[in-house]
Amino acid sequence: MFIENIRLENPRRGFIEVICGSMFSGKTEELIRRLKRAKYAKQRVEIFKPAIDQRYDEKKVVSHDDNAIHSTPIKSAAEILPMATNIEVVGVDEAQFFEDDLVAVCNHLANKGIRVIVAGLDMDYLGVPFGPIPQLVATAEYVTKVHAICVKCGSLANHSHRIVKEETLVMVGEMEAYEPLCRLCFSQLYPPLLNPETGSMANVSNVDLD
Ligand code: ZN
Repeated sequence: MFIENIRLENPRRGFIEVICGSMFSGKTEELIRRLKRAKYAKQRVEIFKPAIDQRYDEKKVVSHDDNAIHSTPIKSAAEILPMATNIEVVGVDEAQFFEDDLVAVCNHLANKGIRVIVAGLDMDYLGVPFGPIPQLVATAEYVTKVHAICVKCGSLANHSHRIVKEETLVMVGEMEAYEPLCRLCFSQLYPPLLNPETGSMANVSNVDLD
């Protein structure tokens, strides 16, 4: 699969890459692969993640298979700017947890000639586009959508179904809290409803998780 459509003949030409998908789709593994490859090429790399994501290690971007790379936890996207001087590649993991100003920050960095690689969930557990990811997808040069495998039917999964009863949007969890589902299996639990007034999509749960 050819998933990186990048021209590298001018290393100072900045651009944005987005790696998005559901949980368990390998987003972080793909981010780490690209960042490690840049490091092998002696490029100066900085990696950031929201301080909220402390599942495994405060200072590392850690994927589910223990493939780790050092990162800096930050509270807001604006903190990236002063730390990204003299840097060639900036990685951002769990980007869905940042505010919308991440979009302006990433575009500012790319305009300055930095390669920006952003990984994040494209939809929340209700199937609604998540945080700044939709705007990043729209403004990025390259978008890679990765998929998990549906635990119910084995098809490609694009939803992160929450299997514990918890209604806060930001809930960092693992295998015990979420499962990947395909569109069909997810839609049987959360039929999508189109709001006729706004035209926006909302999902309404008809499932009692108790
Ligand atoms: Zn399925």
